[in-house]
Amino acid sequence: MRVLFDVDGTLIESGSASDNHPLPKTAIVELLKALAAGGHRIAVASSAGREVAAAVCVVLGIRGLVRIVDKEPDNYDLVIDDSAEGGQGLGRQLLQVRSGMLGAEVDDPWP
Ligand SMILES: [Mg+2]
Repeated sequence: MRVLFDVDGTLIESGSASDNHPLPKTAIVELLKALAAGGHRIAVASSAGREVAAAVCVVLGIRGLVRIVDKEPDNYDLVIDDSAEGGQGLGRQLLQVRSGMLGAEVDDPWP
């Protein structure tokens, strides 16, 4: 599959890219890694631009797994975004993830 991940509110907590200490949404980052390990083609895009998307991916340790692209209509098989509006028209299927800070008991991966 070709999969597009949004940055703000999806790979990181909403608004946390602006202070150079983006707070990862661990479950979504792990999902990205698992899809990449499975041979899927992963793209990352931010409405804030390619530089922001690339910088966040470096911090998250996933820069080598993804292509940085503009957020524009394409035929991705799956778009993962915290905004239904932001993800509209970018691909065939949209998976909307929850926005906002998650509690540690919710976001912690299985031991
Ligand atoms: Mg977003």
